[in-house]
Amino acid sequence: MSLDIRDIADMDRRSVLHPFTQLKDFATGKTGDPTIVTGGKGIRIQDAKGNQLIDAFAGLYCVNIGYGRDEVAEAISRQAYQLAYYHSYAAHTTEELARLSDRLVRMAPGKMSKVFYGMSGSDANETQAKLVWYYNNLRGKPGKKKIISRERGYHGCSVMSGSMTGMSFYHDHMDLPMGLIKHTGAPHHYWGAEPGETELQFSARRAQELEDLILREGPDTVGAFIGEPVLGTGGITPPPEGYWAAIQAVLRKHDVLLIADEVVTGFGRTGAMFGSIQYGMEPDLITVAKGLTSAYVPLSAAIVGEKVYQVMEEAADRIGSFSHGYTYSGHPIGAACANAVLDIVEREDLPGNARITGEYFQAELRKAFAQMPIVGEVRGVGLMGAVEFVADREKKTRFDAGLKVGARISAAARARGLIARAMPHGDILGFAPPLVVTREEVDQIVGLAAEAAREVM
Ligand code: PLP
Repeated sequence: MSLDIRDIADMDRRSVLHPFTQLKDFATGKTGDPTIVTGGKGIRIQDAKGNQLIDAFAGLYCVNIGYGRDEVAEAISRQAYQLAYYHSYAAHTTEELARLSDRLVRMAPGKMSKVFYGMSGSDANETQAKLVWYYNNLRGKPGKKKIISRERGYHGCSVMSGSMTGMSFYHDHMDLPMGLIKHTGAPHHYWGAEPGETELQFSARRAQELEDLILREGPDTVGAFIGEPVLGTGGITPPPEGYWAAIQAVLRKHDVLLIADEVVTGFGRTGAMFGSIQYGMEPDLITVAKGLTSAYVPLSAAIVGEKVYQVMEEAADRIGSFSHGYTYSGHPIGAACANAVLDIVEREDLPGNARITGEYFQAELRKAFAQMPIVGEVRGVGLMGAVEFVADREKKTRFDAGLKVGARISAAARARGLIARAMPHGDILGFAPPLVVTREEVDQIVGLAAEAAREVM
């Protein structure tokens, strides 16, 4: 490093507006200096003080192939030397972009037709909202504009995607235009079920609530339903049995599109290449980001199904060009990076590792945590898991939010060299290690996290 640690920390404090940070505590130094991250290899990152940390959250569940993969760095560099940039407007392309798009259409579940590129999960979901409106306008159903998402769903932080996000603290003080977004109940059996209700019964009830909402709003005003195959930021919660089948039956009945937000679940995280495959979803539109490039460079995509695309193409003679795009749509370095990353995902069968090592991880997590007196539920699938802490197991009562139990356990893990994320909703410790994690590393992760929980208990 050319600057010393003190200079970097001071410069940062003066000039960076950090996301999800208590601004005053940071500005006054109450929460300490920023962590200066200097390197990463495998599942570990290193800070400027030389500390090694096990990253059991893969950054923000995105560095799926692990840190420091030379072949990806080389692919990025090769493309930068050959052609750092050209746009994809008006039918311009590059070899890497064409190859990536062909590959995504073939890999993705359901009948997909075309891929539109952005830079983040948020902007890709923003695109999905516009595609829903465009599609419904073009097929003569201009009233179908509302988009239904779930409480505790996370779809990003931009204007539309932030409105779709179903946690109120993402909306507070931001005046988002929530009018076209309606939220329905979270698919979480532990907190949402009536006494004695089975998962199947609970799923049927959630589907009925969705149908009631559609009928209340008017089916000719509802354009789409957006959902993560597995709820991520809202608490890492796999769907209850029968959930997606019941939801999809309602959507089909009322001619409502399904957007699968696979930003976290895409490219192996759950143990299948896509969460939609694992849960029998047949989306009309699919959002991917994070794992697409393992976050080596920013890239996202809205994958457009045949049904939606056909309407767009048929209208073209009448309406002219598709007027949506970003300077960086289909950036060649992003495409080259994604191809190199997907080569690794396929060659090393990372969905397979997420399934097999994931089963071990899920079992060890339960072994370590399920009997602790402050643990209400241990849950997850593949290589995404969560432990939810409660004040009273029998009565299912939450800790007072002011106690910050989840955050304290996460901090205690951090002090032991482990990054496990205190999820923003409730007292939940979240895990989503890189998909290259080994059993031995799972043992370390679970062991350190359990020590941290015992310290705080
Ligand atoms: N959708 C899901 C399911 C996500 O988890 C996220 C980010 O965590 C997003 C969308 C937004 O992605 P980004 O942060 O790249 O805008």
